[in-house]
Amino acid sequence: MNSISRRDFVRVAVSALVAATVLSAPEVASREVGGRRWAMFVDVSKCNGCMACVVACAAENNVPVGVFRTWVERHVLPGGRVVFVPKQCNHCENPPCVKPCPTGATYVAEGGLVLVDPSKCIGCGACIITCPYGARYFNPLTGAADKCTFCVHRIKLGRLPACVEACPTRARVFGDLSDPNSEIRKIVDSIQTKVLKPETGAEPQIYYHALPEVASR
Ligand code: SF4
Ligand code: SF4
Ligand code: SF4
Repeated sequence: MNSISRRDFVRVAVSALVAATVLSAPEVASREVGGRRWAMFVDVSKCNGCMACVVACAAENNVPVGVFRTWVERHVLPGGRVVFVPKQCNHCENPPCVKPCPTGATYVAEGGLVLVDPSKCIGCGACIITCPYGARYFNPLTGAADKCTFCVHRIKLGRLPACVEACPTRARVFGDLSDPNSEIRKIVDSIQTKVLKPETGAEPQIYYHALPEVASR
């Protein structure tokens, strides 16, 4: 069996196992891991669909052609109004992608970030099929599952995620939800927000304002 067919075999075998049982996995961390809770606010009414965030993300994170860490959906509402809705990994508080990972490659890190350690990933795809948001993909460059990290390498240096920095309309606001003085905390406390698919229990941590029902799936 060559390396590609071995990977395919492992993927199918573990997918079947995941469907049949819940495997042991690291504990999901509490809301404020390391004293912080990184989150994002997206004001759909400010998004003009320019895609600067998508381009900046791809350049910053060497995202392969054909897959995306963040994408922008276009929806036409009754009456003809067009809205653009940016989406990506929600860094869920109760992430369905973590428990099925048989190797601990997908884990909850400081600040509630949900990350992947490529050195531990066997490419089984269990996390990809259990994410309710379609936020994950298989990265052929690393041979591992991949997705948005909230640009963890940048926030460790006190910088903003690339998508947030690139947005010309400030449709995206990033910050520490556990800090009562942060901009994101004040926004989320003061205006109406929604999350995607709340019924999943994943407790996603991207808070949308002016999100139309058609785009909440
Ligand atoms: Fe995991 Fe998907 Fe939630 Fe991201 S959006 S933390 S990949 S379940
Ligand atoms: Fe499988 Fe890798 Fe995803 Fe873990 S991170 S479930 S090993 S594909
Ligand atoms: Fe929307 Fe900002 Fe992304 Fe442009 S950069 S598509 S305005 S979120």
